[in-house]
Amino acid sequence: MADVTAVRGEKIITLFSSFIMELNNVKSGDQIFSALVKILRKTVNPKWVVILDEKKKLLLSFPENDDQEYMRFSELIDWAIQNKSHSFYPAGDEIVGFLPMIRAGEVRGIILLGLNEEPKVEEIDSLRVFSFLSSTVAENVMLLEEVMEKNRLVEETMNYLHSILDTFPEMVIVVSQEGEIVYMNKRFVEEGDNDEIREKALGVAKEVIETGVRRVGEVESEGQFYSIVAEPLKYQSTIQAVTTIMNVTSTKELERLKQLDRMKTEFVANISHELRTPLAAIKAYSETILYSLEEMDPDTLKDFTKTIYEESQHLENLLNELLDFSKIERKALKMERQNVNVVEIIKSAVDSMMEYANSNKVQLTFESSDEVIEAYVDPTRIKQVALNLISNAIKYSKKDIENKYVRVKLKKKEDTFLLSVEDNGIGIPEDKLDKIFEKFYRVDSSLTYEVSGTGLGLSIVKEIVELHGGKIWVESEEGRGSTFYVEIPLGLEGNNGQHREDD
Ligand code: ADP
Repeated sequence: MADVTAVRGEKIITLFSSFIMELNNVKSGDQIFSALVKILRKTVNPKWVVILDEKKKLLLSFPENDDQEYMRFSELIDWAIQNKSHSFYPAGDEIVGFLPMIRAGEVRGIILLGLNEEPKVEEIDSLRVFSFLSSTVAENVMLLEEVMEKNRLVEETMNYLHSILDTFPEMVIVVSQEGEIVYMNKRFVEEGDNDEIREKALGVAKEVIETGVRRVGEVESEGQFYSIVAEPLKYQSTIQAVTTIMNVTSTKELERLKQLDRMKTEFVANISHELRTPLAAIKAYSETILYSLEEMDPDTLKDFTKTIYEESQHLENLLNELLDFSKIERKALKMERQNVNVVEIIKSAVDSMMEYANSNKVQLTFESSDEVIEAYVDPTRIKQVALNLISNAIKYSKKDIENKYVRVKLKKKEDTFLLSVEDNGIGIPEDKLDKIFEKFYRVDSSLTYEVSGTGLGLSIVKEIVELHGGKIWVESEEGRGSTFYVEIPLGLEGNNGQHREDD
């Protein structure tokens, strides 16, 4: 007897293990039920098997048919589901088994079996275990299917978002808290993945991650201008930076042309005013002389003619500036170089500005590192540079302060000379420093509007300096003053004091 039980036990174990192996490979509810039918056929060899869900919907029938004959047991099915109990009833020449599939106290479905004979006790036990295992695995498979469906939905949504971001004309990247790019759209891959753009965008993104607020930036790469906007994004308790990079070359060019146009209009208004003022003075003074010459004492006459002379000189300067500008535009400005002592040239410029400085209560001084600094330059043009810088320094002095000064210094360096013009005037805002050398540009502050000018002076000065192979730059602090520097090569080597052809 003990042997028989052992043999049965062994058989059941073999069946279990083959059932579990079958279950291991299932990926859908249908496959579980097929495995179950297979195992049932090996255990109790039923004539037929029907598996229903808890609402009596057919999930599987063996052999396959859909005549719904099992519905004749409808009441017994309900009873078994309600009582959650396994039962066997004789029906005609067969025994029908009702095996509810129970999981966590809930009925998930029911297995109906048509048997030739009443099953043995150990067969009933195995059937119970099989149905329990099937319901467990079926539930897990259902959960798995749900998760897989959700994953598929998440993936689909991600793909959808990515394709939207890929259609953007802007480049978009997401930078993690560790400063790594965790997302880049197609545009960035195609257009922006170069060192300059990447470095600048990462820099702006880093600021956003550090400060938690929006930041903007700009970068120039291969002749194109890009604007960068980075916004903070909270993600799983870290801060990331969503960074958008836009090619704004055409907008910038348009802006530049519009600004140039605006400046030209302002320039025409300015120049008309600049011409009219001295002209009006000349007209008024000469009229008075013409009609009242007899009554005039010699001193008044001298004063009047002096004013006429000064105003016509002002007009001449203005016309010369216009002429130079037009030459620069036509690329026709030529330097007439010769060997000269730069100290003398600068000194004479300072001398001719002395009266203007005095009348503005500005103390104008000059010092030079050497008595003679010989260079191969155009003396008239170098003087023009100095005159322009000194007159600006006086012009843009503060209105009502004591101790106004303009310090002109000349220094010989190895193979260059350095001219500096320092003032304690109104200064230049930092963001305008690189603009003041552009044609027509005038710093847009109320103070400068009270001061006459054309906005051409510095652009002409810059051109002259560059035609001498030199450079010009400025250091300034708004409200405190400015220092303009001009450095020009002496241009003497191999010259032997002879005139050279212009460059
Ligand atoms: P302008 O005819 O207006 O003087 P410039 O080309 O000489 O034209 O100068 C351009 C602008 O630069 C000026 O309008 C002024 O705003 C600024 N600027 C030039 N020199 C000085 C200075 N020494 N101090 C302050 N601002 C200056």
